[in-house]
Amino acid sequence: MSTIEKRFLAVKQRVENAAKRVHRQPDEITLVAVTKTWPAETVLAAYQAGMREFGENRAEELANKRAEIEAALGRTHDITWHQIGTVQSRKTKLVAEHADCFHALDRVRIAQRLSRVTESAGKVLPVFVEVNISGEGSKAGFDCSNWEHDATQLSALRNGAEAIINLSGLRLQGVMTMAPFSAKPELIRSVFQRTRRLAGWLQIQFPETELSRLSMGMTDDFEIAIEEGATHVRVGRALFGSRTNPI
Ligand SMILES: *Cc1c(COP(=O)(O)O)cnc(C)c1O
Repeated sequence: MSTIEKRFLAVKQRVENAAKRVHRQPDEITLVAVTKTWPAETVLAAYQAGMREFGENRAEELANKRAEIEAALGRTHDITWHQIGTVQSRKTKLVAEHADCFHALDRVRIAQRLSRVTESAGKVLPVFVEVNISGEGSKAGFDCSNWEHDATQLSALRNGAEAIINLSGLRLQGVMTMAPFSAKPELIRSVFQRTRRLAGWLQIQFPETELSRLSMGMTDDFEIAIEEGATHVRVGRALFGSRTNPI
């Protein structure tokens, strides 16, 4: 068995164990294999190992790698490409054209630009709205660092979500967050719990829109995320090893 196959099996086992601990079905959880910085050959090896959901955090890298993979496997494949990193205005077209799912929607302006492109291509892009729960300045997303006590934060998120829901080229499907870097497990868990509660609040605001998805958890914390309700975990290093050029 190849290293990649072994790692994939090990991560899937960890996903399953975490799900079982909280009486969830493992198949409710989508494991997004984060291939940023790795070449197309790595993605092909991962594909051979059985992976079908790939995540990139830079739009050009996603577009280029997707083209390479499609050159190798053909266009009628079964891969879902996730844009997991935030996008600047001038990169929205790339994401609209090449991503199948976008996890880091942090501004209405970006949503409008994305929707203009997907709409004219006759496509609807599933998106997650990104929220910054930990309050770390380095994190993108709607500031929800004190949402339990701050009506202004809540109404900004509510208005943002409403604007996104009303765009016909996008389909808002849930909330995404990043845990604080190198924090203690208890703090990470509380960030995930607060994200889940916030997503529950948002669902009540928009009962007609299915907002049940939660994108949270990476190599260092995906098991905690699953225990706290993640439906999408974004895992790079546990599958591919450490990146020589970390971004
Ligand atoms: C790189 C990245 C990940 C994966 O990180 P690992 O620690 O390698 O699992 C997840 N989400 C986002 C947004 C990323 O940029």
